[in-house]
Amino acid sequence: MKKLLLPLLLLSLRVSAQNAQQVHQKAILIDTHNDIISNELITRFDLAKLQDEGNFDLVRAKRGGLDAQIFSIWCGENYGKGAAFAFANREIDSLYALIKRNPGKIALVRNSAELKNAVAHQKLAALIGVEGGHMIEDRMDYIDSLAKRGMCYLTLTWNNSTSWATSARHEVIKKDSLPHLGLTDYGKQIVHHLNKLGVMVDVSHVGERTFYDVLSTTSKPVIASHSCAYSIDPNRRNLKDDQLKALAKNGGVVCVNFYSGFVDSTYNAKVHAFLYQHKAELDSLTQIYHDGDLANIRLNAIYKSQSDKLRPPLSLLIQHINYMVKLIGIDHVGIGSDFDGAESYPLEMDSVSDYPKITAELLKLNYSEKDIDKILGGNVMRVLKANTGK
Ligand SMILES: [Zn+2]
Repeated sequence: MKKLLLPLLLLSLRVSAQNAQQVHQKAILIDTHNDIISNELITRFDLAKLQDEGNFDLVRAKRGGLDAQIFSIWCGENYGKGAAFAFANREIDSLYALIKRNPGKIALVRNSAELKNAVAHQKLAALIGVEGGHMIEDRMDYIDSLAKRGMCYLTLTWNNSTSWATSARHEVIKKDSLPHLGLTDYGKQIVHHLNKLGVMVDVSHVGERTFYDVLSTTSKPVIASHSCAYSIDPNRRNLKDDQLKALAKNGGVVCVNFYSGFVDSTYNAKVHAFLYQHKAELDSLTQIYHDGDLANIRLNAIYKSQSDKLRPPLSLLIQHINYMVKLIGIDHVGIGSDFDGAESYPLEMDSVSDYPKITAELLKLNYSEKDIDKILGGNVMRVLKANTGK
């Protein structure tokens, strides 16, 4: 009897691995947040070729069954008026150039119909998400211009607030000294304008007050393009249960962020000791890259074996997905990795080639193929269509 058990077990493991691959490749996978375009560390690479650094290139995207990527257009708060909008356009230029160089592999899309068409032609559908309201420099005509170039969402704030919306960081650390809290009247006009143009309103990074102001203003379902569950990791960038429930009521979608700091509540304490140990190098890297986040990504790459020990298990990332599905239902959860925007992701999640592992884990939790389709892309597609009309 015992002799038979091992081959049977191996056979069933192989069948389930094959099944996971089939389910994964059949689904349309949309990742709603990737920072490769704004990551100056790696834009020197040819993204059409396989890279051994960073999390994204077109070769690994194909392997991972990635069908559509919303590329983040981002700059830090040090880019003020007269610089931020120009920088956003430079980044969009570089995405356009990537597409022009690889017409057989990647295509710019603006709505769900164009997205499906690109997928049918075996191309990666590229969408543009602008991360940070400061990039519109308080001007409605800049929103029009970015929308014309393909912006599918505007993240109302990054970590910094704008003159019309307060960020999660500021609502927590500057609560008593903010000139305003939440959305101003002008902020509400911006939300209406985005609704009119068919641009999704992204509520990742915004403060709780702004979040609820947006939900009482918008006429369309919103997206949280890269956020996790606060109940599992109480980080101000994550969404509390009541926020998740309100987002579901709005018909929106929350796309789970893979960053270790938003997945694992113990990560920040662990990484603090690591950064303290390498403080001198981090300071020099920050001078080289003019950006603390990019310096941190580089530092973690240099000390890979040490930083690997700080990564949470993949199961914790899956726990965020499962928790949110159980709390707000299967129709409101998606994938927004934040790849190439952070220094650490859960173990086994090294790049865009690793998405099939999520499908395999969800199958182990008895999620149906239909449910997995929704999480991988169906829910985002619905919200995109509700905003663009196509
Ligand atoms: Zn972000």
